[in-house]
Amino acid sequence: MINASLKELAAALAARKVSSVELTQEFLGRIDRFNPDLNAYITVDAGKSLAQAQTADEKIARGEAGPLTGIPIAQKDIFCAKGWRTTCGSKMLGNFVSPYDAHIVEQFDKAGAVNLGKTNMDEFAMGSSNETSYFGQVKNPWDFDRVPGGSSGGSAAAVAARLAPAATGTDTGGSIRQPASLCGLSGLKPTYGVCSRFGMIAFASSLDQAGPMAKSAEDLALMMNVMAGFDSRDSTSLERDKEDYARDLDQPLAGLKIGLPREYFADGLDVGVAQVVQQAIDQYRKLGAQTVDISLPNTRLSIPVYYVLAPAEASSNLSRFDGVRYGHRAPEYTDLLGMYCKTRAQGFGAEVKRRIMIGTYVLSAGYYDAYYLKAQKIRRLIAQDFAQAFRQCDVIMGPAAPGTAFKLGEKTDDPVAMYLQDIYTIAVNLAGLPGMSIPAGFVPGNDGKPLPVGLQIIGNYFSESRMLGIGHAYQQATDWHTRMPAGIM
Ligand code: GLN
Repeated sequence: MINASLKELAAALAARKVSSVELTQEFLGRIDRFNPDLNAYITVDAGKSLAQAQTADEKIARGEAGPLTGIPIAQKDIFCAKGWRTTCGSKMLGNFVSPYDAHIVEQFDKAGAVNLGKTNMDEFAMGSSNETSYFGQVKNPWDFDRVPGGSSGGSAAAVAARLAPAATGTDTGGSIRQPASLCGLSGLKPTYGVCSRFGMIAFASSLDQAGPMAKSAEDLALMMNVMAGFDSRDSTSLERDKEDYARDLDQPLAGLKIGLPREYFADGLDVGVAQVVQQAIDQYRKLGAQTVDISLPNTRLSIPVYYVLAPAEASSNLSRFDGVRYGHRAPEYTDLLGMYCKTRAQGFGAEVKRRIMIGTYVLSAGYYDAYYLKAQKIRRLIAQDFAQAFRQCDVIMGPAAPGTAFKLGEKTDDPVAMYLQDIYTIAVNLAGLPGMSIPAGFVPGNDGKPLPVGLQIIGNYFSESRMLGIGHAYQQATDWHTRMPAGIM
């Protein structure tokens, strides 16, 4: 069952070949076995998961099952889940038990899915390697000496190691697509506003977006059918009709125009990754697509712009963690100000502090125009690059990340090298567009272990269902997405 697609799992549940309780137990068993090494989950609560599975089995018996009823899904620990510890990878929320469900969690619950546990992540989703988590680094199932990517690295490692059939993630600058690429998964960051941010702990609100991580594009479509939709509790949630994200899965590719941005194939891209991505694009040509060369001229500005805007928003969002309302409070202090200072000094890790300081600086009276306002203007130019590109093509393709999974510790002392992980993903968040990564092949690591490579597909606003069809067509012709790491059989 561990390699089955969501559709196959639903069919097995419907045919009573397996119950939701048995399925949940199977995955909990694998978590027991492999999580001590992988560290993909922060919180597992077998009692809670199995109670939900029991309820799902009753629903199935009554003939009320939907496509995900009874299927265990792992939740990134950035999503509040009622009665579950919800840490966001931080000591600050190390003891926080959420009194309510995030919209996304509530939607899975309504669909009858089982919450399998809360996955590890970079602290407050700040990172590209999962090494900033207060709960320790996560390992890449393809090579335990390497990072899974971040910040949704726990979700990625969990699905890649078959410790969950699928998981949720969030993507502010690449945190779904980059770990999906590094772990050999399919991951989708939807158009900004498609998935509600209610109950999703805020990092940079104008960029944060929830999305699914799974083995295949088809699985992503089924997850999107649950996750997407209007929610009045998020003021940026888009009021649109419900759509079926699986409706274009079988659309032929003939006539599809793929834009290849010259800036995505330039210096800084690993040679092996470039080859794999080119082969994937050749496969698309064989399937009937055409390619056109395009340019996204402001690509090189996306990282500097992001590292002004995201920290600015983070410094404001994280001001709520003051030791008064929830989470950690310094045990000893003499006055109120001292309590705030000590609480935040103890509760936040180094990367989070760095961002709060940068954010506070760029928002301060003397620097606001020079940094924050300037970055906002360039953000608009970056969005215009894409608008221009989509006059020439239907989708854009390129690498999701500049390299394969790197060694644990390799980039921890060099924040800029770490920030460059998102060079191909960040502009998509700045423009609010949907982006996806799908497994496209492997590059051998220097110790011989195969390391996955992701192909990024960027679409125009609200083209998720078409993008999923484009991913699905590739996955019908190739089997990269079915490969499983050798170390976790
Ligand atoms: N790596 C980027 C950062 O550290 C993006 C993180 C994300 O998408 N949550 O900000």
